[in-house]
Amino acid sequence: MRIRDSIHSDRLPASYYAASSNYPDGFRRLEGNVHVEVCVVGGGYTGVATALALAEKGVDVALVEQNSIGWGASGRNGGQILGGFGPELSEFDKYQKTYGPAAETLWQAGVDCVDIVRSNVEKYGIDCDLTWGYFDAAMNERQMRDLAAAKISLEQQGYPHALKTISASEVGSVVGSKKFVGGLVNQGWGHCHPLNLVRGEAKAAADSGVKIFEDARVSKLEYKDDGVVVDTDWGRVTADKVVMACNAYIGKLVPKLANRMLPVGSYIIATEPLSDDLAAEILPGNHAVCDQRWALDYFRLSADNRLLFGGMATYSGMHPKDLVKKMRPKMLKVFPQLEGMKIDYQWGGYLAVGLNRIPQIGRLNARTYYAQAYAGHGVAPSHGAAEMIADAITGNDRRLAMIEAVKHKPFPGGRFLRKPVLATGMAFERFKELIGG
Ligand SMILES: Cc1cc2nc3c(=O)[nH]c(=O)nc-3n(C[C@H](O)[C@H](O)[C@H](O)COP(=O)(O)OP(=O)(O)OC[C@H]3O[C@@H](n4cnc5c(N)ncnc54)[C@H](O)[C@@H]3O)c2cc1C
Repeated sequence: MRIRDSIHSDRLPASYYAASSNYPDGFRRLEGNVHVEVCVVGGGYTGVATALALAEKGVDVALVEQNSIGWGASGRNGGQILGGFGPELSEFDKYQKTYGPAAETLWQAGVDCVDIVRSNVEKYGIDCDLTWGYFDAAMNERQMRDLAAAKISLEQQGYPHALKTISASEVGSVVGSKKFVGGLVNQGWGHCHPLNLVRGEAKAAADSGVKIFEDARVSKLEYKDDGVVVDTDWGRVTADKVVMACNAYIGKLVPKLANRMLPVGSYIIATEPLSDDLAAEILPGNHAVCDQRWALDYFRLSADNRLLFGGMATYSGMHPKDLVKKMRPKMLKVFPQLEGMKIDYQWGGYLAVGLNRIPQIGRLNARTYYAQAYAGHGVAPSHGAAEMIADAITGNDRRLAMIEAVKHKPFPGGRFLRKPVLATGMAFERFKELIGG
């Protein structure tokens, strides 16, 4: 089932990213039959990074993407590169609760996944505006205390990158907004042009021998004694193993995966390019920024000085009719100095969230691997998941076995009721936030 609605068509959305893509060339359609060792389904970070990691290990891989590489969340997101596999890295107690004896290993995987992005960009010369520096912005004293505690906890845990708490008097040196009373700078995280990252990685994968096919929607998976038959609209891949990397866009292809996540809409607007002075006033250190709320605002500058401002979270499958009308007032609350600036681009997409908000990574059976539901933190963790899957397929399943031990329940309410059930749950979280709970 292809998804077509006010923010999705078969083409890339008309985003700032599509307009500034450094990798315009597409890949051919699959026609006829191909046999490979591993077939990856889905051309976002999970699929592309898995295919690349497998090719680096000498595995014969095909990747099939229903539209084009980066069409899903990977080519639409805020571009913020954040670590962590589920819980925040500062909450090691939650790693222990979630992963038990594997907590140390998976905490480290949450740090290292950012380095996979860094390494791919360097190794393959990917032109994606990679920039280091991230700011967790506090809106009140309670959040400030939490962030100060997070810094101590990260340092005690051996976090390897520079951290700095920013007080109310210093906040203007990071973000020029009266909304924030301080925060925490993390130099280990940063931002990039997300579509150029995934397309650059796809080029690297193709150069390394991966057969990439676009306009190749998988309609059926059939398991035989000697492998899996992956049928697309125009051709067929037979493989020893498959990797499901469809995240929020999986539709009905694998109900067991679809039932365990919910597609959540998130939306971004991009201003016209700002003058150097205005850009330096609002984000003097060129950090990526998130606030601390459940339905957070996230923002950063593009390489050509646009403010990319994201936020909102819709759980019903209904997108706002007029994104600019919804998002612009949010942006102006943070940066009133942008009054009068034109909005050049607006777009949105689906990320996937599971009930426990822990990424879902593992095996459905001996031939089927999967990774999905990174919530709002997919750019770097999808690369960590890709590495775990590639390791497991080539004989080392130590970390995959640890992470797949976490059980993920389907959403209550079945196919038709799970969205209303979740919307109620989210409304409750929002209510708690408003009353400061
Ligand atoms: C607006 C927005 C902002 C976000 N901001 C951030 C951020 O700043 N930082 C961050 O870390 N994360 C962010 N995220 C989340 C992040 O983008 C995702 O977690 C991540 O991109 C998931 O990658 P993926 O490869 O698993 O899925 P996707 O990128 O969604 O890719 C899945 C692919 O599978 C394909 N597919 C589906 N079904 C089939 C089929 N039957 N046959 C063939 N192909 C199929 C789809 O076409 C799609 O291209 C954001 C997400 C959105 C939507």
